[in-house]
Amino acid sequence: MARRTGASCRLCRAEGEKLFLKGSRCVADKCAVVRREQKPGQHGADRKRKKLSNYAIQLRMKQKVKRIYGLLERQFRNYFKLADRSKGVTGEILLQLLERRLDNFIYRSCFADSRAKARQVVKHRFVKVNGRKVDIPSFLVKEGDEIELVGSDDQKKAFKETCKLLEARGTPDWMELSPENLICKVVRLPLRADIGMDIEENLIVELYSK
Ligand code: SF4
Repeated sequence: MARRTGASCRLCRAEGEKLFLKGSRCVADKCAVVRREQKPGQHGADRKRKKLSNYAIQLRMKQKVKRIYGLLERQFRNYFKLADRSKGVTGEILLQLLERRLDNFIYRSCFADSRAKARQVVKHRFVKVNGRKVDIPSFLVKEGDEIELVGSDDQKKAFKETCKLLEARGTPDWMELSPENLICKVVRLPLRADIGMDIEENLIVELYSK
């Protein structure tokens, strides 16, 4: 599956806020959003942050969420279509689907400090779901799944160290982490309240419903 490559910090600068795309490096003073307020690009300084139209606000929200989860437009729209076909509140189901991605699960369970690194962990075949190796970052976890990290002793040691470093971040209530065994279980599907990011998903629904 295709993925976006290129400078992550440009994406944050385009949105004008920290999206934490580089994990632990994002908390340092070197964060580009903190250092450079202007938009990215050669004419970034000329492109002042002006009052946005309704459409622009909706578009920016969609871009922000898409970038947080590291998706391309087509992938993101497919999630929306799936959410739109499902029973329930479309915006909430959209976020639930994004949260259930295996790369996001690895990130949330503190085995990686960014979704990009979590994606690498999955792609490099360090993840087992219910005892079977899965190397598809878009794999959707479901209630009752048991996700285990595998690999050489050195690799396992590195995962444990990452887990320890990210301990303060904690894991959401919909998962149960056992860091010493490198296992995390899905105790239930994520709810909107578990996601806890500054996202107005109704704007994305309005944008795609035009
Ligand atoms: Fe975004 Fe992190 Fe870069 Fe800051 S350091 S601009 S939060 S990716």
